[in-house]
Amino acid sequence: MRFDLLIRGGKVVDPGGGREGKLDIAVTRGRIAALETEIPADAAFHVIDASDQYVTPGLVDLHTHVFHKLSYWGINPDPIASRSGVTTWNDAGSAGALTLAGLREFIIKNARVRITAFLNISNIGLVGDNHECANLAYLDVDLFRRLADRNRDLVRGVKVRIGKPTVGENGLEPLRRARRAAEECELPLMVHVANGPPTIQEVLELMRPGDILTHCFNGSTMKIVDDGGQIHEFARRAWDAGVIMDIGHGTGSFSFGTAEALAASGRNPDVISTDLHQLSVSGPAYDLPTCMSKFLALGMPLREVVRATTSRPAEILGIEHDAGTLRIGSQADIALFRLHRGSFPLYDIWGNVREGRELLANTLTIVGGTPLERLAPEPPAPWAEDPVWPEALRPFTQQQAELRALGHTPAAMVAAAELDRHE
Ligand SMILES: [Zn+2]
Repeated sequence: MRFDLLIRGGKVVDPGGGREGKLDIAVTRGRIAALETEIPADAAFHVIDASDQYVTPGLVDLHTHVFHKLSYWGINPDPIASRSGVTTWNDAGSAGALTLAGLREFIIKNARVRITAFLNISNIGLVGDNHECANLAYLDVDLFRRLADRNRDLVRGVKVRIGKPTVGENGLEPLRRARRAAEECELPLMVHVANGPPTIQEVLELMRPGDILTHCFNGSTMKIVDDGGQIHEFARRAWDAGVIMDIGHGTGSFSFGTAEALAASGRNPDVISTDLHQLSVSGPAYDLPTCMSKFLALGMPLREVVRATTSRPAEILGIEHDAGTLRIGSQADIALFRLHRGSFPLYDIWGNVREGRELLANTLTIVGGTPLERLAPEPPAPWAEDPVWPEALRPFTQQQAELRALGHTPAAMVAAAELDRHE
């Protein structure tokens, strides 16, 4: 019997399955069928040559917003998946109890990629840009539980955003309600932090091992390091006890200063995610491979970077048997990458630049054994063309325009690196 698909000659990195090195991968009926040092080309109907490339499990992005056309932040995941290798997209709170059915019906049913969700503790989710926790009438734990229980296949966690504009005068009460929902539904809780009040200490005191602090390497008032770059003692204790640190790059949350301070003390994030949405997709987050390249530049080993974008987030979502790994029997979600070497300017959200010596560029994305056709990126939503709110985002659109003009976008850098390679 011949395999449907064979990927030959690539350098496999599969931390979840514990395999690494030059291996051939065979796929049958949408699942991984074999992983061997040598599988002959005539053993399959279709063969892909992956020599000089890295082959990883399809990436799992723990923090995204894919409720497109139905919420402020939502983007269409398939076109981005087709050029980034992300085959599992966890939507972090775009939908609330009142809109979850729409996420399933209008987005998930039509998407090629796998989509899971962290349900927002606010009923209305992220229909608008902010303020979803400013009115406690929307934070109904009983309704949350009813929807979560009826959608266990889809709902993998609870999402709450804690920061001044989001909660208004409600302080920690939205977090307390999200905590109660997480406990009643036995789901992990993802907490977004940005600018307080409340303080990062007050937030971490309400989090438990297995919960996720997203935007964990931010440089705002709720950062986990002090101004001298030392990790706060309460943050160290929470992290060591099992609170999961997730990047959630976005447009407001990734700071090289914070990341370097933590890297200097030997601390890498547990999960690297993009917080990809209508604004961050235009940079400097851009996509998951670009965020991964920033951690390579910070000295995090490639294997650990791949673990933080495959098996680790898959475990948090409870889908590690089927996603984020190339183990035999799991769904054949596979990503191919070229690791370009050279000098690549990489930016954080504050406009700080670091030189990357490596740039990870996706060349092919396979979902359930079928390669995704490369689709053109979609234009931004009208409200994201030139966002006038919040005021803090305005320099952002300027930064994005500057990076385009400088040719410092990943698309431009990869195109230049490809030209070099063929010379
Ligand atoms: Zn987000």
